[in-house]
Amino acid sequence: MSEAITTCDVLVIGAGPGGGNAALQSARLGLKTILIEDHQEIGTPVHCGECISDIACQNLGLSLPDEVISKKVKGIRVIFPDGTEKCLSEHGYVLEKHLFERWIAESAVKEGATLSLGHKITGMSKLYEEGNFSGWMCEGKGDLFPIKTKIVIDASGVASVSSKIIELNPRGKVVAGMQYELIDVPTDGYLDFYIWPEYAEKGYLWMIPKCDGRANVGLVTEDKPRTKKALDEFIEKTHFKELEQVLPPWKEKGNPAFGGTIPISGPHENTHTDGLMLIGDAAGFTSPLFEGGSHLALKSAVFAAQTAAAAISEGDLSASRLAEYPELWKKEFPPYGKILKGKNALFNLSDDEMSLMARCFPDEMSDMGVGGKAMVGFRILLRKPGLYLKKIVPAMLAFGYSRAKYYGW
Ligand SMILES: Cc1cc2nc3c(=O)[nH]c(=O)nc-3n(C[C@H](O)[C@H](O)[C@H](O)COP(=O)(O)OP(=O)(O)OC[C@H]3O[C@@H](n4cnc5c(N)ncnc54)[C@H](O)[C@@H]3O)c2cc1C
Repeated sequence: MSEAITTCDVLVIGAGPGGGNAALQSARLGLKTILIEDHQEIGTPVHCGECISDIACQNLGLSLPDEVISKKVKGIRVIFPDGTEKCLSEHGYVLEKHLFERWIAESAVKEGATLSLGHKITGMSKLYEEGNFSGWMCEGKGDLFPIKTKIVIDASGVASVSSKIIELNPRGKVVAGMQYELIDVPTDGYLDFYIWPEYAEKGYLWMIPKCDGRANVGLVTEDKPRTKKALDEFIEKTHFKELEQVLPPWKEKGNPAFGGTIPISGPHENTHTDGLMLIGDAAGFTSPLFEGGSHLALKSAVFAAQTAAAAISEGDLSASRLAEYPELWKKEFPPYGKILKGKNALFNLSDDEMSLMARCFPDEMSDMGVGGKAMVGFRILLRKPGLYLKKIVPAMLAFGYSRAKYYGW
């Protein structure tokens, strides 16, 4: 007897923020939507610092329920190697990220999407009718497979599973991120981002405050083998040393450290093909300087669902019809190449040079304007004109683009 085939308009792979929102938006647009998630529950293990800016939430039309918000925060304080502190004040939230992801997936189900946990896609093959592409037959582990769908939205995170299965893009570069939950952490409501290359090579360390004195203290670094050692050393040498490490609420036992990897090669060359769109980390959408990606995952989901609905209603699922999707994200997402250039210039500076640059910044970096930037340039010129040869201007601009206004966090 042949296996029963499940059919749908849109199959979303992965119930992270991107996948949950892709399913929500697709279901809202009237599409028969299936959301599959490899794990048996949504959102754990958490692999995120858990912060998102208010501007990103407004842009997404997200009205966060109280239970997913751990703490409201005032913005980011960047701490340079000599201890110089400068602020990017833009309000936002630290989430209980697993609850946030569950809330989005539940909202998708309320709109009519089917959610299937413990479902892992392992194969995809193209279907044709009268010579025209008509969808995908997907294989995998889980009762619903095989699944026949018109469109696949791949939100499988850094695994970018469809890219692998159909060899759409080469494997990108990643950085490692790891954190601990500490308690009784002093805070004035800012996220503290330490640009201290001694511990975090081409990355940074953070203290992200949560409710009840809890905080995520962690780092991202390109020196993957040293990730845990570098974080432990940082904690040992700072005021965090005195504080107690606890298991996060979603973890009952085991190692208190948690984290994951973040794509850093920038958006993939191909974020779509016939009947397929890649969103979020699966598409390589993370901010180059501070590596945040939830907001880009959530927004790329909106663009993908819109494109899917239009393509399905027109009966054209081809790559050329879905080319609308990259057009949409390219119009809105921050200029990856420019920020990356700035990041590279920043990490080309010595600790002393970075600190000198920081001392020339105003205390509040969020609204420098043209006059403010000129003043910073003038101060640097007076103190160390040679820094201009080290491309200090792109390094300064990278901070500007990392503001929430540009989807920076
Ligand atoms: C340590 C760390 C800290 C971070 N801090 C922040 C931060 O503070 N703010 C921020 O905005 N971003 C942060 N990020 C980045 C952020 O977590 C990601 O950009 C975001 O989660 C991407 O969402 P996504 O939906 O694309 O993918 P993911 O959240 O990775 O979700 C992918 C889902 O797909 C599932 N999946 C994978 N393969 C399959 C398969 N074959 N079949 C079915 N399901 C599958 C996975 O189980 C997972 O649930 C951080 C990342 C790390 C590692």
